[in-house]
Amino acid sequence: MNSIRFISNALAKKHSNGKFHPESPQRIEIMEKWVTSHLDDSISFEISHEMANKDEILSVHTEDHYNLIEKTKNYEGHFYFDADTAANSYSYEAAMQAVQIGIQAVSESTMDTSVFCLVRPPGHHATQHSPQGFCIFNNIAVGSQIALNKKKYSRIAILDFDHHFGNGTAYITESNPDILYISTHADPRISYPGCGFSDEIGLGEGRGFNVPLPLGYRASEADLKLCFESIINPIIYQFKPDFLAISAGFDAYERDPIGVLGVTVNGFGYIGKIIKEITDNLKIPYAHFLEGGYNINLLPELLSAYVSPFIGKSEVIMKIDPSLQVKEETKSTVQSSKNVLKDYWSL
Ligand SMILES: [Zn+2]
Repeated sequence: MNSIRFISNALAKKHSNGKFHPESPQRIEIMEKWVTSHLDDSISFEISHEMANKDEILSVHTEDHYNLIEKTKNYEGHFYFDADTAANSYSYEAAMQAVQIGIQAVSESTMDTSVFCLVRPPGHHATQHSPQGFCIFNNIAVGSQIALNKKKYSRIAILDFDHHFGNGTAYITESNPDILYISTHADPRISYPGCGFSDEIGLGEGRGFNVPLPLGYRASEADLKLCFESIINPIIYQFKPDFLAISAGFDAYERDPIGVLGVTVNGFGYIGKIIKEITDNLKIPYAHFLEGGYNINLLPELLSAYVSPFIGKSEVIMKIDPSLQVKEETKSTVQSSKNVLKDYWSL
């Protein structure tokens, strides 16, 4: 029997980027409501007050970055790191709690029971030295790095299906061959953060271990399917991770207010299903980290579709609608990825 442990940080709903910001406390409120109304043998929910410690943050972030965030706890109103990322007096502790849940998720998830970090702030845009893109600390990178440092795992794959390229995760891991970072995201020419082209495959010893897969306007699960079959699955099976960490963003949804992609509700069921197949085939544990997703009313439906395959439920039809066509741009991304990655993986 497979189950999911949702863990939310106690201050998730207190952290704020300012009024009318899409990354709002309502995102957690509505998802928590869905989770708590579906509690059974396969779904559990916990609220955690624990915070990561400074040394854990410093496993991937600079001391200046940590100090900047810590200072905001005494700030009245909103402290703006950039035009779209801010902190209020709760944000430092909320972010430290979110990281702690990430560390716990990598350490405690098993093949049968995965942890879903139902946290705010999200993390995948936070780089070594700066908060950005609604993110303060990089929850998934810290969680993964701590598990590697403790020799709990020796090779971790991070799969990021958020609408946006996780530039923070990519920069943090780009020289590290022990972390494979694979991301599907909207074309950087039309979307934040403006990087994540298919030739950004890592540096030095880590070259070949960053795999950005940019997708064109309105790309759907048909495009994701081509990416999984041609690039993602072959690389993950050759890398043979002993843990899979998933940056789960729901802003690739076709009606997301800030997105340009075209993934349907069923598409999130497809993503869950294919990830579950990978972890089953490799017989490895895995954990989910909430990143973006801004269509407040539809978030519960997207979450439900995504988690169903992990708890043996088929509330959604996980077949891909044949009317969804693979975009030309996706075919060209797959071709460029094959060209640039051919020295590192057999594709
Ligand atoms: Zn996003």
